[in-house]
Amino acid sequence: MKSYDVLIVGGGMVGASLVQALAGQGLRLAVIEAVPFETRSEPGYDDRAIALAHGTQKIFRGLGLWDALSVEATPIHRIHVSDRGHYGFTRMDRSEEGLPALGYVVPARLITRVLGQVIQEPGTLDLYCPAVLSELTFDDNGATARVSIGSVEQEIAARLVVAADGAGSAIRDQLGIPVKIHDYGQVAVVTNITPQLPHNNIAYERFTETGPLAILPMSGQRCAVVWTVEAGDSDAVTALSDTEFLARLQDRFGYRLGRLEQVGRRQAWPLRLIKAQESVRPRLALVGNAAHTLHPIAGQGLNLGVRDVAVLAEVIVDAVRADRDPGDLAVLSRYGSWRQGDHRRVTAFTDGMARMFTLPLPAFGAVRSAGMVALDLLPPAKRLLTRLTMGRGGPVPRLARGLPL
Ligand SMILES: Cc1cc2nc3c(=O)[nH]c(=O)nc-3n(C[C@H](O)[C@H](O)[C@H](O)COP(=O)(O)OP(=O)(O)OC[C@H]3O[C@@H](n4cnc5c(N)ncnc54)[C@H](O)[C@@H]3O)c2cc1C
Repeated sequence: MKSYDVLIVGGGMVGASLVQALAGQGLRLAVIEAVPFETRSEPGYDDRAIALAHGTQKIFRGLGLWDALSVEATPIHRIHVSDRGHYGFTRMDRSEEGLPALGYVVPARLITRVLGQVIQEPGTLDLYCPAVLSELTFDDNGATARVSIGSVEQEIAARLVVAADGAGSAIRDQLGIPVKIHDYGQVAVVTNITPQLPHNNIAYERFTETGPLAILPMSGQRCAVVWTVEAGDSDAVTALSDTEFLARLQDRFGYRLGRLEQVGRRQAWPLRLIKAQESVRPRLALVGNAAHTLHPIAGQGLNLGVRDVAVLAEVIVDAVRADRDPGDLAVLSRYGSWRQGDHRRVTAFTDGMARMFTLPLPAFGAVRSAGMVALDLLPPAKRLLTRLTMGRGGPVPRLARGLPL
């Protein structure tokens, strides 16, 4: 049976970032990934956009990935938050933070490609792909994973298993790790548009009576749209013709970017909050969407997952340097407790935003307007919001401080 120090299940954006963090640290690494990398999408108008916080950019820079990602990164200079039909809006600006950008919008396709190259780099790790983890068992000495590679079953051993297997984590289910789930009863309709006026690197968050709407600046003067609609309306919205869709979106967003002129393919994502109640067990750590799946309104999911990676990598490397077993619960508890505050704050912030801004009662509209005006006038409250959205909400791991592991 082959044996590893760290077995990462899931080679998505979070699992692959962890590979990059741990590569070259003298660890025997393996990844199990169900979907072959070469089938992932090609560049095009319909690229899905991911907003990366300033802190995430620093971590990616520390991991040596930023140069490749920066080629298609669009900086966010300002975030403009407003409420349709109500007075009051707030702005966050890079100059207030003394930074070149509040964050960056990068095509998910590029992040996946750059990270896919990392995972497929010969000599870094053993890659089981396409392969599915079918069973995981533990004893005092380590974990044993049963892997299905086509019709072949294989067993591999590891001192530590990292569950990076996404929102529907089979590891979480198989081990009976309790989860809190809230179904928002909403769907995110995701697409790209080209407005008449240049976006000037401004990201817009607009709250409408049918749900929040985010418009992010992208390359080629495109903007990425994440439009939350009631689940019951999603088929009707995605079936609209381009002209009808643009007219409906224009009505919700207004004319800050002039006429909305072109729209790409629409994709619908059901929205749920999933929060694992445990993030570590002996020989197991959960990262990324397996630990927390958020409403995408504030663009925080991957950012939170990359911060999991920065902390877990630091904890593992420190343990190995001190000649300790990286799968030991005492080692992993350091990761669990370090991440608790950030998980709690960002989940509460995102969930609060998603729920408060979809309440239909007119009275809440007034509260929201007052809230936004207050936020704009009260520097400490606004600063806290900026810090959270930029990923600077707690103790900072070495990678996020620009230091090597
Ligand atoms: C509409 C939308 C917009 C978003 N926008 C943003 C944004 O702007 N900014 C941001 O930070 N976040 C954003 N997010 C969130 C972000 O996309 C996710 O947080 C992130 O992709 C999670 O990555 P992950 O690697 O944890 O999970 P996943 O990407 O789900 O990866 C899990 C991997 O595990 C593999 N896998 C699963 N089970 C098994 C198994 N049993 N065996 C082997 N392999 C397995 C899967 O094939 C997959 O590759 C958005 C999400 C949505 C839905």
